[in-house]
Amino acid sequence: MQDTIDTDAPQSEMASQAYLKQLKATFEQLPNDIALYLFTAKGHEDAFTHGNRQVVRAFRELSARITLREFDLDHELAKKYNITSSPTLLIAPERYSIRWLGAPLGEEARTFLEILILVGLGQSHLSDQSLNVIKKIDSPRNIKVFVSPTCPYCPQQAVNAVKAAVEMPEYISLEIVDIQSQPELALQYAAQSVPQAFANDVLIGQGAQPEEVFILSLQKLEPQTIFIPDSDAELVETDLVVIGGGPAGLTAGIYAVRSGLRTAVVEREALGGQVATTPIVENYPGFTSVGGKTLVDIMVSHALQYVQIFQGEAVVDVQAGNPISVLTNRRKFLTKAVLFATGATHRHLGVPGESRLSGRGVSYCSTCDGPLFRGKKVVMVGGGNSAVTEALHLFHMGVDVTLIHRRDKLRAQEFLAKQLVDNNIPVLWNTEIKEIRGEKRVEEILLKNQKTGETSPFKTDGVFIAIGYTPAVELAKKLGLEINADGYIKHDGRHRTNVPGIYSGGDVEGGYKQIVTASGQGAEAAMTIFEDLINPYWLNEN
Ligand SMILES: Cc1cc2nc3c(=O)[nH]c(=O)nc-3n(C[C@H](O)[C@H](O)[C@H](O)COP(=O)(O)OP(=O)(O)OC[C@H]3O[C@@H](n4cnc5c(N)ncnc54)[C@H](O)[C@@H]3O)c2cc1C
Repeated sequence: MQDTIDTDAPQSEMASQAYLKQLKATFEQLPNDIALYLFTAKGHEDAFTHGNRQVVRAFRELSARITLREFDLDHELAKKYNITSSPTLLIAPERYSIRWLGAPLGEEARTFLEILILVGLGQSHLSDQSLNVIKKIDSPRNIKVFVSPTCPYCPQQAVNAVKAAVEMPEYISLEIVDIQSQPELALQYAAQSVPQAFANDVLIGQGAQPEEVFILSLQKLEPQTIFIPDSDAELVETDLVVIGGGPAGLTAGIYAVRSGLRTAVVEREALGGQVATTPIVENYPGFTSVGGKTLVDIMVSHALQYVQIFQGEAVVDVQAGNPISVLTNRRKFLTKAVLFATGATHRHLGVPGESRLSGRGVSYCSTCDGPLFRGKKVVMVGGGNSAVTEALHLFHMGVDVTLIHRRDKLRAQEFLAKQLVDNNIPVLWNTEIKEIRGEKRVEEILLKNQKTGETSPFKTDGVFIAIGYTPAVELAKKLGLEINADGYIKHDGRHRTNVPGIYSGGDVEGGYKQIVTASGQGAEAAMTIFEDLINPYWLNEN
């Protein structure tokens, strides 16, 4: 290998000579030597063994810091490192647990170069955000990344894994598996499309993931699609704080930032709110049928294009003023406006079988799930306006519905109750559900007559529960927001509450509780906030 650049060579050759020279210099500056151990089966010279030697030789010509030792599979070191397949290349085995099953050929030469540099440096070069996440790993992770020499996306995923193994050698081991060299292993893991990454035999990534998403998947031991950066700031000054990362809050975030407002969305639990717990959504425009989690991922990815999200952070106090102060369990926000998009939760019956069969015949939303029960037999539990309206809704959809009410009189308005009679919808009075039964789906319920105390089974395909909602209004009450008779935040029709600068949107306002209506209210609220901040109505009133 020459040290000087041949100026008579054609331009492309000159460029590659310059590149090699730069690489050489890089390797010379690496603080650590890089030992490679190649294990092969005696007398078995396949293309991968040959390829391995060639690639390693090429890199060794760049630097004397790279050394290669070869061993047979029956050597004692093979036993020590538990090596059973040929060829296996160990990289700096005295410091790391990184092995290559096959050879770093084709596209994979890029990965190999990255490995050599990171191992030589003794540094992972993970981003600060990835480091924050990887530090949470406190138990072993064995990563397998399946790659192939012809896959241009594979190096990105393999390098993610290398960085993890270099950062945490005490916990993380890595096998890069060439599917052409190891077809049986690929078959065993059903890794016919590459790249695919497994950790402790759990699929954590299909395709190439951004580094932070890969590290998060590795930490959680399940595939992640979104990474939300962490912020260390103790004080954040902004125009709008949105409390709640459900459909209302996320939509408000998008609209607010697009209007030019600096906005933060704060979510204490899983992003997506109630949608995150919904198995299938079939009434959100644009999607005939979409998993709740998938819809959340799409919404969150969209919102992240605009708005900063603070996840895993509960708002614990809001103090009115100019600015308004919003305190979370991690930091303080000073802001001009606050949107309560804190949502609501369904009340549960609290009987055996209810949570196990939720989404499997137990439902809290006839608008959402009613069409699945057309031509089938269901019960609707409750005696208020919601239960009766939803029973009528199911009836008109073609569902055979029976209302179950624990008293002898409905709380619903007279005209609604009359429609039950007009449509011959049966009502079981003074009756409570004691248990919901079924193996994989709801099959029957156990009823108790309140008057006689008798219990009896009742065959049904579904149990719809409409016994009320609990809106998340504790914080709003503490702040002095007016609450309506049904327990929801009271607003002026444009989402302004009684406290200047404080707004509401979504299920916390009551009304129709749907993803599309919550999103709509979030959008409306953000637009009102924008208009109010450029022309504060509370200053114009006097
Ligand atoms: C099982 C189920 C199935 C459903 N199916 C459908 C369906 O198929 N179609 C449909 O249109 N609708 C469906 N819905 C209803 C729909 O999900 C809701 O109407 C919608 O999610 C309401 O959105 P939201 O943003 O107002 O509130 P939520 O989704 O409730 O979100 C509010 C968020 O605020 C957060 N929050 C509350 N307090 C704080 C605080 N102090 N600090 C930080 N964060 C806070 C909560 O953690 C929550 O994530 C379903 C609901 C459920 C439960």
